[in-house]
Amino acid sequence: MSNDERILDGSRVAAAIRAEVAAAVVELAAHGVVPRLDAVLVGGDPASEVYVGSKARTSAELGMRSETHRLPAATGQDELEGLVDRLNADPEVDGILVQLPLPRPLDTAAILRRVDPAKDVDGFHPTNVGLLQQNRPALRPCTPAGIMELLEREGIALEGRRAVVVGRSDIVGKPMAVMLLHAHATVTICHSRTRDLAAVTREAEILIAAAGVRSLIGPEHVAEGAVVVDVGMHRVSDRETVERLFPDNPKKLAALAKRGAVLAGDVDFHRVLEKASRITPVPGGVGPLTIAMLMANTLAAARARRGL
Ligand code: NAP
Repeated sequence: MSNDERILDGSRVAAAIRAEVAAAVVELAAHGVVPRLDAVLVGGDPASEVYVGSKARTSAELGMRSETHRLPAATGQDELEGLVDRLNADPEVDGILVQLPLPRPLDTAAILRRVDPAKDVDGFHPTNVGLLQQNRPALRPCTPAGIMELLEREGIALEGRRAVVVGRSDIVGKPMAVMLLHAHATVTICHSRTRDLAAVTREAEILIAAAGVRSLIGPEHVAEGAVVVDVGMHRVSDRETVERLFPDNPKKLAALAKRGAVLAGDVDFHRVLEKASRITPVPGGVGPLTIAMLMANTLAAARARRGL
């Protein structure tokens, strides 16, 4: 297989999902329903601004409505919960997304619990977490749900295969492991206390890297022929590192010069590419799938709330 054929093109799969959502939105319009996603952004974190902006743009492209509620960093818990309550009660609102991380000292867990589970398009409410655990219908966290779509649409079998997830966060690692388990993979979860990480990850036929540590996964962590999915997202602004991570890649250097940084993942892509049978790039892998699944969840919430 050529290097190009090995690449799992998350952008392409995400485009297909977005097109399906857009077509379903047109159908819903026949019932007089236009799904609406409301984002809550507290404080002016630049990365969060970018994420929320791209979610709002994508909603509009797919024919959905969206509103962004911007609150100052000093917003109190009561005020934020009051806004969530109003959005919960507003029949026009189908999906509520509280952009994380919230500034301190806001209590994130309490805010996520406050969101109506039927509007919880991030799938973070304990009710949705529990339903996922029991493999019952629920709004599911977008990043792992997007990875499952990618694996399925790319014909990557999971049943009976060894999957290793590096990372045990509530938003990626844990739900990812549960979804793989429900797809009948044999799943191992690694974390910062795992001893001899490479020995464990080399067991993987499917390896999901979600540690938030740039270039953590090198060729020594990967079995020949493994499928590697890279969730990590890191801005790299140092030219020497960009040259090392993306050798002979004038496009990356041009992007660095233009934007001041390029994105890289938890996987040392170029060195792992030789060993993996399939691998997601960063960017163009998991990121676009996450947003596509947020749109799919908003559509699902709009339908479910109206019994459609
Ligand atoms: P997180 O909450 O920081 O969790 C990281 C997990 O990785 C933790 O469970 C941690 O273990 C584990 N870990 C850290 N260092 C490790 C090491 N050296 N060896 C093994 N495990 C290690 O991060 P997250 O929210 O899950 O996100 C992970 C990455 O994915 C980040 O780079 C984030 O930016 C990215 N991300 C991307 C998308 C997307 O759409 N592409 C979406 C979400 C997140 P402990 O539990 O022991 O601390």
